[in-house]
Amino acid sequence: MAVLSFFAGLILGSFFNVVIYRLPRGLSIVKPGSACTHCGHRLTAAELIPLFSFARQRGKCRVCGGRISWRYPVVELLTGLGCALDAGTSSDWAEFVVGVSFFSFLLVLALIDLEHQVLPNKLTVLGLGCGLLFSLFGWTLPFPRSLLGALVGFGLVFVIVVISRGGMGMGDAKLLALIGAFLGWKAVFYVLFWASVLGALGGLLYLYITKQDRKTPIPFGPSLAAAAMVLYFFL
Ligand SMILES: [Zn+2]
Repeated sequence: MAVLSFFAGLILGSFFNVVIYRLPRGLSIVKPGSACTHCGHRLTAAELIPLFSFARQRGKCRVCGGRISWRYPVVELLTGLGCALDAGTSSDWAEFVVGVSFFSFLLVLALIDLEHQVLPNKLTVLGLGCGLLFSLFGWTLPFPRSLLGALVGFGLVFVIVVISRGGMGMGDAKLLALIGAFLGWKAVFYVLFWASVLGALGGLLYLYITKQDRKTPIPFGPSLAAAAMVLYFFL
């Protein structure tokens, strides 16, 4: 099951790459088919094979030689590994669906935030809806705890945004609401704490490597997503 999930995850990951590229740019996710971002060359079936095509073409477009972003194979691999891990740790299919959904929303949101400093409402609200719905189905927490988790997650960041004016935004509030809907209110505090630690360390490292000044905005979404994933899968 884990091996099968890994390969299914690779395909899911290549779809996520489309979402990560197109959603923040306001493009349609379903059409047209995938194309080179440099020359517009429409990808053939062989060029659409996850990981393999990137390796074979050495990260370049076969037609124009333009660089293909590192993000494509990384997202495919991470989604494959995430699905395999989820298959290995889930005791039934409902838990598997919950795990894959949670992981997928977090991964796609983190990567969009990293590149565009935005967490699209379409995804945060959809993810929040899934979290509440799974709870109603009886797949996760009892519904009152899921709802409370969402409210605490949103409220906590909302207060921080109002007080601190900067650093975090309303997108982060909706992301933490999503996390709360899946994991409950106690997890919200845990995730916020560790995301802050991770964000501070990651921020310093980022400024050191890129040699930018301290005013550079650093997205908080990836830290929230990483802390929530560790909590869900490993603790
Ligand atoms: Zn090209």
